Amino acid sequence: MRQWEGGPVEPPVSPVLHAILSHGTAKRAITFIYAALQSVDTPSLAELRARWDADLVSPLTDTQWSQALCHIKKVSRNVRLRYTQLNYLHRTYLTPCRIAKMYTGTVAACPRCKHHRADFMHMVWSCPIISTAWQTVVDTLTVVVETPIPLTPEACLLGIRTTNKQNKCRNKLLGLACALFKRMIAMHWKSQTAPKVEAWLKILLKWAQAESDFMSDTQIHKEINVDNTHTWDTYMSIMLAKSDEKPP
Ligand SMILES: [Zn+2]
Repeated sequence: MRQWEGGPVEPPVSPVLHAILSHGTAKRAITFIYAALQSVDTPSLAELRARWDADLVSPLTDTQWSQALCHIKKVSRNVRLRYTQLNYLHRTYLTPCRIAKMYTGTVAACPRCKHHRADFMHMVWSCPIISTAWQTVVDTLTVVVETPIPLTPEACLLGIRTTNKQNKCRNKLLGLACALFKRMIAMHWKSQTAPKVEAWLKILLKWAQAESDFMSDTQIHKEINVDNTHTWDTYMSIMLAKSDEKPP
């Protein structure tokens, strides 16, 4: 026992230690700690939400904001994609606007369309060149899942969608598909063109296969089958057929 000030008394139990002690198994304790960390409402998160609100048509509701925060973990099993989603939510990328503020003499213009002020939303969404590519991505996904997909930053950038038991599989695919395109935008940050949609579809097929290898025996896959709606496999078949088509 450590000797604390004032004599040999027990040190106070930390909240983390309390979670571990009171939740039986380590797995349950870790789940509890994760949930606690995700529900923490810090001033910086409020500022971040306000920045998103300023860029969206209407402010996010509490439920939507919570969905956006949770989407980081739900987007994929792969930590790289989760990291991409984290960076998008927190808008961490160095945009020409931010660089121009830090270094005088640098240009704040968009490398793609030459718009004079390339801030985060311009770089990832509203730039006409990127916007056209997003339109093609959303059109492709609409064909794959046979449901209209909203072309909005809420859906595509933050992963906010209506959820129910029937569309779990579809939402997972849409989250993965959008995250991969966001990753491509980030990886071609200074490019004069948008990422190629054909390349995105090929990468999506590969990543969707990796996800399905993990999912195949899970309950979610069976539930979707029972409801007689599209399964992950049928999405894969449609995407495979589309990837074989010649680009227009
Ligand atoms: Zn631009």
